[in-house]
Amino acid sequence: MPAPRARSVWCAAAAVGALLAGCSVSGSAEPTPTTQPETAPPGTTAPAQVQAVVVLDPGHNGGTAGRSAELNRQVPNGRGGTKICNTTGTATNAGYPEHAFNFDVAQRVRELLTASGVQVVLTRPDDAGLGPCVDDRGAAGQRANADAVVSIHADGAAPPSRGFHVAYSDPPLNDVQRGPALELARALRDEMTKAGLPPSNYTGADGLSPRPDLAGLNFAERPAALVECANMRNAAEAAVISTPEGRQRYAAAISAGVLAFLARR
Ligand code: ZN
Repeated sequence: MPAPRARSVWCAAAAVGALLAGCSVSGSAEPTPTTQPETAPPGTTAPAQVQAVVVLDPGHNGGTAGRSAELNRQVPNGRGGTKICNTTGTATNAGYPEHAFNFDVAQRVRELLTASGVQVVLTRPDDAGLGPCVDDRGAAGQRANADAVVSIHADGAAPPSRGFHVAYSDPPLNDVQRGPALELARALRDEMTKAGLPPSNYTGADGLSPRPDLAGLNFAERPAALVECANMRNAAEAAVISTPEGRQRYAAAISAGVLAFLARR
């Protein structure tokens, strides 16, 4: 775990164009966190302040139309092979795209973590680009010297399937993946469960999913986990994630999981 760094109390996040990825994404740029002083609104009590850097990686991206050649180029997968740069992601049956959900939730998590003093770095600055590719996302935590890295996705499984799962690199490729990454995944799982979100009934076990095939996790040298929030093809879950209130619920649980993990350092 990196040594604590001095940071201002109310600081904001920075968007970056590089990163991690799970089911499907790609671009790039060096993470250059900016710090923007903020003040607590009058009459409110600031939450406990945490000195940490967290990379949030909203999966996929929204500007991939007509760019399949770029999206399908092969990149290192972190285990000696290759895989495509990224995919377009999934969508609800009504057409709400996963990339938009991921980016919206990431912004909500950023707001919550920033209010706790955490410096947040996003792997992409908006929802209109192509990348970064999955291998680039996997290096984002190292570039930002992050204390934790969370990739945010939603799944596109068979309609009866439902629930979240948190993926982590397995078999682990370094000591961070062997220990802290699993602790992060468990903290996220625990807080999502506490929030009343159901663990997956179709993959993994107890809301956790060991994965060897996610380049974003394979390349991680900082504690990293990937949250598949829900199955977008499940009608009940699609109804929840398609509303701002529903997305805030996922964001609050992810933020709580990150803060719980950071509190144990
Ligand atoms: Zn995805």
